[in-house]
Amino acid sequence: MTEFAPARSKLFVLAGPTAVGKGTVAAGIRELHPEIYLSVSATTRAPRPGEVDGLHYHFVSVEEFDRLVDEGQMLEWAVVHGVNRYGTPRGPVDDALADGRPALLEIDLQGARQVRETMPEAVFVFLKPPSWDELVRRLVGRGTETEEERERRLRTAREELAAEDEFDVTIVNREVHAAVEELVALMVDSSTRP
Ligand code: 5GP
Repeated sequence: MTEFAPARSKLFVLAGPTAVGKGTVAAGIRELHPEIYLSVSATTRAPRPGEVDGLHYHFVSVEEFDRLVDEGQMLEWAVVHGVNRYGTPRGPVDDALADGRPALLEIDLQGARQVRETMPEAVFVFLKPPSWDELVRRLVGRGTETEEERERRLRTAREELAAEDEFDVTIVNREVHAAVEELVALMVDSSTRP
């Protein structure tokens, strides 16, 4: 396991367009690097087969989500792909950082922009596909969206790719294991160096 210097423990935000593999990179971190706190978002979307409440997401009702927002318990939140709400519960992130663990948020661009406003000291990492064609191939290949939904996600993806300059670091996701290790190396580096 990687050792982190508590005083330098930091918040990292991973964002990037649909289907680039953010979820897979996050899963790799969860499996291989339990020393990193991976935030569990709340969402109003229904669980997909195999998703576990409390591990992949906290699946909540719209009413419960709005209550969390009203009570100031969300570090950031957004309506993603025009439908469901997603947000980062603040408490566990604060606790992880206080414990000296680096924390990672895997969120969308709107959420990343909010975190930049409230926690500008965070490190913002942009996950990018090797090419546009590869992004389309991944989206079509996973087969979880309808044709209409795919079109919508690709429109959003074009906008999101244009936001790369807003980020501190870019990681190209050619191969998931390599992307995970690049991200972890960055987190170790930023956590141990002034
Ligand atoms: P999915 O429904 O495929 O799991 O996620 C859809 C999108 O929601 C992804 O782009 C993911 O990064 C984003 N997302 C997941 N959790 C959060 C969150 O807590 N906040 C924000 N702003 N976006 C999130």
